[in-house]
Amino acid sequence: MATSYPVGIVGLGLIGGSLALDLTALGHTVLGVSRRLNSCTLACARGAVTLASQDERILRAAQVVFVAVPIGEVLPTVARLAQILPEGTVITDVASVKGSIVTQATELWPWFIGGHPMAGTADQGMAHALRGLFRDRPYVLTPIAQTCPVALAQVMALVDGLGARRLNAAPPDHDQAVALISHLPVLISAALVLSAGQSAVLPLAQALASSGFADTSRVGGGNPQLGRQMAQFNRAALLLALQIYQGQLEQFHQIIADQQWPQLEQRLHQSQSLRPDFVN
Ligand code: NAP
Repeated sequence: MATSYPVGIVGLGLIGGSLALDLTALGHTVLGVSRRLNSCTLACARGAVTLASQDERILRAAQVVFVAVPIGEVLPTVARLAQILPEGTVITDVASVKGSIVTQATELWPWFIGGHPMAGTADQGMAHALRGLFRDRPYVLTPIAQTCPVALAQVMALVDGLGARRLNAAPPDHDQAVALISHLPVLISAALVLSAGQSAVLPLAQALASSGFADTSRVGGGNPQLGRQMAQFNRAALLLALQIYQGQLEQFHQIIADQQWPQLEQRLHQSQSLRPDFVN
C-alpha cells in the first residue's frame, strides 16, 4: 500500500465493521466510534480497529471519516462531527440513499463525499462484519458541483484500496437506479415471502421450498430497519419503481388469463437475455 493514515469510522455495524476490518488489514490506523460499548469491545476483540470509543472526539486524529450509521442518522452525525473535526478532514458516508443527504451534508461540511458500497448481507452488527465484503463489488461515489476535488481523490484512493469497482453517479441518478435494482427487490422479495405465508397448504409449501425460493426471497429476509429507511428516504423513486413493476405484473396476469403462451415465452426470452447485463 502506498500511504497509510488514520481513518475514522462512525457506526461499527455490518458495513462500518467490514470497512474497519479491511482498512486495518491494509495498514491504516482505524479509529472506531459506536453508540453501544458492546460494538466497540467486539471491534477491538476482532482486531478491526486500533482504538474504539463511544466518544466521537477520538476522530479528531483521523484524515478521513466514514459515517456508517442508519440513513436517518447520517445528517445528524455529520452535523455533530462538523463541531469536532479539524477543517479539511474528509467525511464520507455509506448510506443507501444519496439525494436526501449529499447536498445538505456538503453544506454542513465542505469536505463531504457521498458514497454507497453495493455490498451487504441479511445480517447486522459488528458480529457479522466480514473481511473482503467490498471486493469486486460496485462502490458508487456521488460528487456534486460543490464537491471538493481533493477530498474526492482521497475517498477514491481508499475505495480502490478495498478492491471495489468504483464508479461515479449524480445523487438523483443513483437513487433512481438503486430504487429499481436494490430497494424494489427488497419489497418484491418480502411480498413473495408474505404471499407464500398465506398458502392454504403452508407446511407442504415450507417443506418444498428449495434453492429457487431461497434465491428469490433472500433480500426480503434482511434488516427491517434498513428496508424501512430505504423506502422512507427514497420514497419518490421507489413509488415510481413499484408502479413500473406493477405494470409488468399486470401484463403477466393478462397474458396468462388470455392463455397467450407464445407471448409469455417471448417475454421470458426477453428477460433471459436482459439479465446478464445486470448480474454479470
Ligand atoms: P448495522 O449493522 O445495523 O449497523 C448500524 C450501525 O449504526 C451500528 O454500528 C450502530 O451502533 C449504529 N447506530 C444504529 N442506530 C444508531 C443511532 N440511532 N445513532 C447512532 N448510531 C446508530 O447496519 P448496516 O447494514 O451496517 O447499515 C449502516 C449503513 O450502511 C446504512 O446507512 C445503510 O444504508 C448502509 N448500507 C447497508 C448495506 C447493507 O446491505 N446492510 C449495504 C450498503 C450500505 P451500535 O452497534 O453501537 O448500536
